[in-house]
Amino acid sequence: MATTPSKPPRVRFAPSPTGKLHVGGARTAIFNWAFARATGGAFILRIEDTDPERSTEENEQVILRAMRWLGLDWDEGPEVGGEFGPYRQSERFARYDALVERLLAEGKAYYCFCSPEKLEADREAARTRKDPFQGYPRTCRSIDPAEAKARAEAGEPCIVRLKVPLDRGDVHVHDLIHGDVTFNAKELDDFVIRRTDGTPTYNFCVVADDAAMEITHVVRGDDHLSNTPRQVLVYEALGLEPPLFAHVPMICGPDGKKLSKRHGATSVEEWRDEGYDPEAFVNYLALLGWSLDGETTVVPREVLCREFSLERISKNPAVFDPKKLLWLNAEYLQAKTDEEFAREVLEPELVAAGLVEEGAASADPEWFALLAQILKPRAKLAPDVVGLSRFLFGDEVAIDEKARAKALEKEGAKAALTAAKAALIELDSFTGDEIDVALEPLPEELGQSKRNFYQAIRAAETGSLASPPLGPSLELLGKERALKRLDAAMELAR
Ligand code: GLU
Repeated sequence: MATTPSKPPRVRFAPSPTGKLHVGGARTAIFNWAFARATGGAFILRIEDTDPERSTEENEQVILRAMRWLGLDWDEGPEVGGEFGPYRQSERFARYDALVERLLAEGKAYYCFCSPEKLEADREAARTRKDPFQGYPRTCRSIDPAEAKARAEAGEPCIVRLKVPLDRGDVHVHDLIHGDVTFNAKELDDFVIRRTDGTPTYNFCVVADDAAMEITHVVRGDDHLSNTPRQVLVYEALGLEPPLFAHVPMICGPDGKKLSKRHGATSVEEWRDEGYDPEAFVNYLALLGWSLDGETTVVPREVLCREFSLERISKNPAVFDPKKLLWLNAEYLQAKTDEEFAREVLEPELVAAGLVEEGAASADPEWFALLAQILKPRAKLAPDVVGLSRFLFGDEVAIDEKARAKALEKEGAKAALTAAKAALIELDSFTGDEIDVALEPLPEELGQSKRNFYQAIRAAETGSLASPPLGPSLELLGKERALKRLDAAMELAR
């Protein structure tokens, strides 16, 4: 049994570049990264691209980009290098081969010449016999190694199998999350470590790399728990101590089923494109299966990096709830200072929407700070600010159907607009507070309900009945445009 190493932990995230980075993979990456940061260890990124048909360079780039967007910096791996490289499995084939040869030479692995048809026939026979052992019947284990080698070298198709000691017995794995797990020896046959085409199998490469890269803790999805006994057997054959294992619970959708496309966006990039803040996103994913104290929901990155521990990972499946993610995102937006909100949210979103030019926020910091103040509590996602502030751009405003019908084409609307214009025109300092004070007495003076009065003004100025508070909105519009819009709406009003 492995003991806790005294050296700083070395952990890895090992994605296969066969698709985008998904929420589950991202959560595994976050756990490894946070664990390394919290313990002063190293976080290694290893690309498991041994399947040439499904792994692409483009997918690798997509994964690296998603990792960067999440702010998960790796200490060793592609693009940053490190002393245990290369960090792509496709560049490590010679190493795997050397290890397979070593195991063959030491009699810990053997060539198997059984054809796929023979293997299938053996399996069928075991099923018919109701044999509890349905694995490979070890047919080629008894071939003389020198003879087997000669046959392999002569080009006879063959694979290489691990020679699991016959007296090995059940494999016990102490998982840091699941506790003691026992795997029945009967289900662990002499499994394949090198295929007919010479490529090594997943369970072999992972062990070869985790050992070579001196990984101390393997933290990964619990869909890999069932691979662990085979990997332990590879460690034993190589004469190496296995690392510690921590298999994290799966993520399900709100319906309790494994998270999939059915539940909506599953790749990190889709969430990024919807406008989520990477800080909120990392915080949310970190809480899928881990908790700081069982109740805190806002756990900023620096807290995560300080407090993360494997002990606080639950073994129960975690539920991915998009509503909670959205709520958390809004919390992060609100926690920004006005200046940060202006620079990080308003400017980029408004530039993307073609409403302002780059550099606008630094050119007019006061205007942007005021806009930040009124939009921060209203935006749940960064792109929301575009819709919420569109009325501020351009001289005229398009008045929507509802605002027109409910607020302008209504008895008293014209009187409201006229009175507002008369009051506002008098103002020397056109600030939100002054505007509010000037409008305040008007409904009573006109004998109108506040609601009708303000709806008419709101419709005229913002084009809609739902908008940020009126005073600051008019301040942002400026006196000249505010008055013009009252005039324009007068034509529609009754
Ligand atoms: N490459 C494997 C995957 O993407 C991960 C293997 C591991 O973490 O051991 O599922």
